[in-house]
Amino acid sequence: MADEKLSFTLTTSTPQTAGQPKPQGAPQHEKVIIIGSGPAGLTAALYTARAQLNPLVIAGHELGGQVSLTYEIENYPGFPEPMTGQELVERMKAQAERFGARIKMFSAVSEVDFSRPGGPFYLRTDDGDEYEAEAVIITAGATHRHLNVPGEKEFTGNGVSYCATCDGFFFRDKNVVVVGGGDSALEEALFLTRFARRVDIIHRRDELRAGKTLQRRAFANDKIHFIWNTVVESINGTQHVESVTLRDVKTGEVRDYPTDGVFIFIGHDPNSDLFAGQLERDAFGYIITDREMRTSVEGVFAAGEIQDRLFRQVATSVGQGTAAAMSAERWLAEREALAEAADQQEPVTS
Ligand code: NAP
Repeated sequence: MADEKLSFTLTTSTPQTAGQPKPQGAPQHEKVIIIGSGPAGLTAALYTARAQLNPLVIAGHELGGQVSLTYEIENYPGFPEPMTGQELVERMKAQAERFGARIKMFSAVSEVDFSRPGGPFYLRTDDGDEYEAEAVIITAGATHRHLNVPGEKEFTGNGVSYCATCDGFFFRDKNVVVVGGGDSALEEALFLTRFARRVDIIHRRDELRAGKTLQRRAFANDKIHFIWNTVVESINGTQHVESVTLRDVKTGEVRDYPTDGVFIFIGHDPNSDLFAGQLERDAFGYIITDREMRTSVEGVFAAGEIQDRLFRQVATSVGQGTAAAMSAERWLAEREALAEAADQQEPVTS
């Protein structure tokens, strides 16, 4: 049965050697392409490199994606002292490269064609390079959500931010508000207390979604205050943010609340639009995978936050990246074994 499923792939590929110079005009042939360079992608790179698959990682415009913006990671096993996301990602990159992974920086995949079941798969990057890959591992992650209120877009970079690690420094001795009630909101609010005079967490309910440890730390911090059952209706100012308009969802009361900065942490959406119509996605846009990280297209795998709505941890992404790499390796080996068997059975013609 498994052989039947794989056999149709044998006629589709005319492989060059992965990573070798391509004939002019033809897409560069690769054995494995990994899309994205967060913990899932760099781990998949490490494992496929160690399996001698000479992977190419198309890193995106920022190495590491979201995790590289995290100021402190203290729940990644094996590192008892907290480290920055940037440091962790640099270490993962160095480790993958040590085993031969190639990392194409400052370039993102802008087009894919997965219409040939079993591959090879076509990919194009936004700097115009073209590839065909025998297997693809998608680890393109997720992007923070917007509030979509007046003033948000206009003041992004002038008081509105989605990254305390990047922008917290500019709010020394200022008053800021944080929107959201999850782990990100509390973690970032705690980080902001290093700089800001006062941090108000604005949450639309009267109960936090964040884990108990973070809740305890936030409640114990003198600089942090909570504004419950409240939503931001607009962000106001002239050159910079000067206030937010708040609405109490219980009483309906609307008021202007002065602030110097608005940090928004209300969750993420998967970066999967590129794969719409080519891979099965769930109602929230997450790519659907099975336990082996296989997507709906044979030969295309996905790992990390682009397929994981539930856990979204560095440790889980690393595990999923490992599983995707091992599945890709197994899949390629099975295909090669089938191709060899088919070659041996081919009648000799004179
Ligand atoms: P999240 O858990 O989805 O929380 C989003 C928060 O924003 C919720 O409190 C939600 O309110 C609120 N929200 C959503 N849409 C809103 C809107 N339009 N207006 C106002 N508020 C809105 O997202 P997250 O905090 O980014 O965390 C995502 C995942 O990463 C979670 O699994 C989390 O555990 C994980 N994470 C873990 C750590 C850590 O372990 N240290 C750190 C960061 C993130 P409701 O509660 O009312 O829905």
